[in-house]
Amino acid sequence: MNVYEWQVHLFLATGLFFIGTVVGSFLNVCIYRLPLQKSVIWPDSRCPNCLGRIGALENIPVLSWLFLRAACRNCKLKISARYPAIEAATGLLFVAVYFADAYFGSHGNRPGSSVYVAVFYHCVLMALLLAISMIDFDWTIVPHELTNFGIVFGLLVGAIEPAVRPAPSGALTMLGGLGVGLLGVVVGAGVVWVVRVVGGLVFRREAMGAGDIHILAVVGAFMGWQAAVLTFFLSAFLGLVPSLVKLVPYLIKRLTGRQWNPSEREIPLGPFLSMAAVVLFLTWHWAWPKLFEPYYAIFAWLVRDLLGQNPDLP
Ligand SMILES: [Zn+2]
Repeated sequence: MNVYEWQVHLFLATGLFFIGTVVGSFLNVCIYRLPLQKSVIWPDSRCPNCLGRIGALENIPVLSWLFLRAACRNCKLKISARYPAIEAATGLLFVAVYFADAYFGSHGNRPGSSVYVAVFYHCVLMALLLAISMIDFDWTIVPHELTNFGIVFGLLVGAIEPAVRPAPSGALTMLGGLGVGLLGVVVGAGVVWVVRVVGGLVFRREAMGAGDIHILAVVGAFMGWQAAVLTFFLSAFLGLVPSLVKLVPYLIKRLTGRQWNPSEREIPLGPFLSMAAVVLFLTWHWAWPKLFEPYYAIFAWLVRDLLGQNPDLP
């Protein structure tokens, strides 16, 4: 039985939505400034055209964009709809985290673990993945400031609150929590590293970027090695979608006998890795026991058998 009433859920989820939009507003600053190597705390927000200060009232997430009718108050420079979209998306992600952790309770509701720490932990993961994705999408750069922070934060909080990670990666002791996180980092980074090396040998081109190693290391630190491996496979699957979409004009061009221009921009993998991690996290309470755990049990048995740890069958 859940001790919360639905009013409490509604109240906390609404509060988290507003916190999310404010965090999203800060993410916009990070997405804009980090690739330019600018500080994210100084100076305050200014219009890039007229350099006019953006006051507190013009800096309210989502609402200001609507009231200003998507333009700077001074110079009428258009403000991209991406800013309020990222603010709203962060708010919605935080609400989704709340329900995954507090309502479905696969993460934070276990004995001895705080649901508030779990919600906070996973909100940080969502914010990081969103910012990393947008910067990777814009510049094909994975910002080290964010991935390094993510790895350290994931390991640290995962050690302080060892039960915070999803089902098979929960731990009981501080050392156990740190171990689970470190294993996640090594396996997550290792999967991409192996694909990079093998892909380089087979295709003679870079199959995955070095930044993708860091992204999956963050996912491993936060969610454990199982989720990191599954994130990798799901992202490869999601990454096929735009390739298939691109295939349509290619086929049309081929069939109509026109030249195909292959110089089209390469799509970075970071957003797909992030998307996969978010989908897995939000569905984990259902997907892990129903889809993945049986295979994991077989895999674990095989590993134990190879190590000679299984009892001999009569
Ligand atoms: Zn302006």
